[in-house]
Amino acid sequence: MNQAIPSKGEAVVVKHTGSHYLLSRLPEWNVFPAVIRGKIRLKGSTATNPVAVGDRVDYIFEDGMGAITAIHPRKNYIIRRSANLSREAHIIASNIDHAYLIVTMAFPETKMAFVDRFLTTCEAYGVPVTIVINKTDLHDEVLEQMAGAFRGIYGGAGYELLEVSAITGTNVDVLRERCRGKISLMSGTSGVGKSSLIKAMDPSLELIRTAEISQAHLQGRHTTTFYEMYPLATGGFIIDSPGIRGFGLVDFKKEELSTYFPEMLRVMDDCRFKPCTHTHEPGCAVKAALEAGTISPDRYYSYLGMLEEENKYR
Ligand code: GDP
Ligand code: ZN
Repeated sequence: MNQAIPSKGEAVVVKHTGSHYLLSRLPEWNVFPAVIRGKIRLKGSTATNPVAVGDRVDYIFEDGMGAITAIHPRKNYIIRRSANLSREAHIIASNIDHAYLIVTMAFPETKMAFVDRFLTTCEAYGVPVTIVINKTDLHDEVLEQMAGAFRGIYGGAGYELLEVSAITGTNVDVLRERCRGKISLMSGTSGVGKSSLIKAMDPSLELIRTAEISQAHLQGRHTTTFYEMYPLATGGFIIDSPGIRGFGLVDFKKEELSTYFPEMLRVMDDCRFKPCTHTHEPGCAVKAALEAGTISPDRYYSYLGMLEEENKYR
């Protein structure tokens, strides 16, 4: 703490440590601790953590400690289910300007089910998202072919893709530029090169992975995943997420799911039945597009898988 903290005002949650929160009056980076005063849970929220990284809050500050007195309505947020077969939800970050889902054609393997769950979550909660293919320096003919197929599927669905390499620096400047003046979420399974990429964007950053959470733990009910916001030297803030699994939509209606697939949303107006689940209904425009090859079968199977999974929660 190098400057005095005004005794009250508005700030953003940049970290949750378990016992308290760290706040900063963004875009100023001057972090101070705070606890929650009283009951400030947002109305209607089922989330287990009342305050998330990215939340704008009102605070008062005295004797070196802040107190969060109110939480502002969220522009958007990303959520995941707390545990398998649980309806409990955990907000992992809020007020995100842009999400970057980092994947790789090399190691670790990219699971489409995971990618699609992440993308639909972003659609459902109104977070713009770009898919970042990292480790392109490793691309030989086979990996390049895989990348081509991947680009075909997701580019075709309407997503923006960016191919980078944290090692050679390819397109790292593009990513850095895109993050300027924004709050960006960096996501992806562990090992895809998130920390390497963030380091490449800003070598001065010291990433601290507060809780590298084991697979076993992640299945547990009371796991807390610690997300943390960092300032980029070139401007903007990134939220680093520990490797995530079990990402999931919460409480979507069956008829709604296809609206979170942009390529389905584009054609579903032409389905004969409304609402249409695009499974058994005659005159379905989504199935017609599938047959015509304009909707990827892989994406459609992901959709079916998610519908099926949703059934388990009912
Ligand atoms: P994180 O778990 O997503 O933060 O991944 P790390 O940044 O720790 O990277 C995981 C491994 O991938 C490390 O061995 C990195 O050196 C390697 N790695 C990260 N980015 C690249 C890249 O662009 N190219 C290559 N060849 N390896 C990379
Ligand atoms: Zn349909």
